[in-house]
Amino acid sequence: MPQAPLPDEMNVYQNAEARFEVAAQKLGLEQGLYRYLKYPKKEITLYIPVGMDNGQLEVFTGYRVLHSTVRGPGKGGIRFAPDVSLDEVRALATWMTWKCGVVNIPFGGAKGGIICDPRKLSKGELERLTRRYTAELADWLGPERDVPAPDIGTGEQVMAWVMDTYSMHVGEATTAVVTGKPIELGGSRGRREATGRGVMICCDKALAKLGIKKEGCRVVIQGFGNVGSLAAQLMQAAGYKIIGLADVGGGLYNERGFDVPKVIDWVYTQKKPLPEFPGGGTKMSARDVLFQPCEIAIPAAIENQITEQNAHQVQARILCEGANGPTTWQADAIVDSKGIFTVPDILGNAGGVTVSYFEWVQDRQGFFWRESEVNDRLLDVMESAFDGVVRYAEAHKVNNRIAAYMLAIDRVASALKLRGIYA
Ligand code: GLU
Repeated sequence: MPQAPLPDEMNVYQNAEARFEVAAQKLGLEQGLYRYLKYPKKEITLYIPVGMDNGQLEVFTGYRVLHSTVRGPGKGGIRFAPDVSLDEVRALATWMTWKCGVVNIPFGGAKGGIICDPRKLSKGELERLTRRYTAELADWLGPERDVPAPDIGTGEQVMAWVMDTYSMHVGEATTAVVTGKPIELGGSRGRREATGRGVMICCDKALAKLGIKKEGCRVVIQGFGNVGSLAAQLMQAAGYKIIGLADVGGGLYNERGFDVPKVIDWVYTQKKPLPEFPGGGTKMSARDVLFQPCEIAIPAAIENQITEQNAHQVQARILCEGANGPTTWQADAIVDSKGIFTVPDILGNAGGVTVSYFEWVQDRQGFFWRESEVNDRLLDVMESAFDGVVRYAEAHKVNNRIAAYMLAIDRVASALKLRGIYA
């Protein structure tokens, strides 16, 4: 197996590759399988024309990368953000394959993205952009082919448009083509909270493992979107003390702890900037929130937040990754050397895709579960995935991240061997 060069620290695809290389090497993955799993199955760049509200025609660039369908249909979100790139979408698609492997659900991995700033688009423009993107991908998508979901910059409404556009193309209402939909359209109870709930389950397990009490346990969270805000809300309700919060506008630290529902009301109902939340606290950059003294730090925003330059500043006992790729390859070693217990992204944020799997199952059955049923099943999946990763790490004397990759790659490679290569 070739020795990979050190990744360019800020290139997420190279970061994903570097971890794959180490895990594949440790597994002794045979050359052919290594080559097969290293590259995506297919990828597409789309130039998407959209009639804007001002009468102009704009063309947006979008991508869909299908990394693997070895264990089931491709699965993974669609991101709308100004800095989306093909390399980023590739990395995210690859991570989806390993994430679904870690939690052992029957999906491969995929991801999509469009370079745009959704906050600057009207609802009509967003709808036309989403519909044209979906229409261009109509032959790629499908409940048995590739099943999108929300990611940064997209949510239930965008998923509803994806479902509708796809359904119009195939001539039948196909709810299982996409997950993260509104409940009225075949969405699952508990899906909205699922990633945050999964983060909390991992934190509960990590505390139990390290023998730390939950009551009063100090938590800082970077990111106040679907993952961060719901993790904060659920964790505070469960007895954690949320002392640091941050979103794109900046961070706020208050050692007395935040009343999270009030912050959610401030940001989401009153539409005010998070750092201006009344009730005190020290303003700081969104990144600095992660470096405050605490038991648990949760990066739940974007990639490359903990780097070689700043990793030594992390003061947490536990790093639980709610975002995809928040810690760079170079930072991993520093975090490890500080003895920080890491819950890697492909485990920490896997609650979302796990309930996406439940949504897909419910849509295909046409039979919908109670919220408590969804949450119980999520707990089962996350707890056994956590135990599996920690056991694997201890048995193979590797860190949790490499253990998670090894476990996932091994599962995908075994399935691939059983299927054989159609070549
Ligand atoms: N975008 C989410 C993730 O990165 C959810 C993917 C899904 O539910 O398919 O895990």
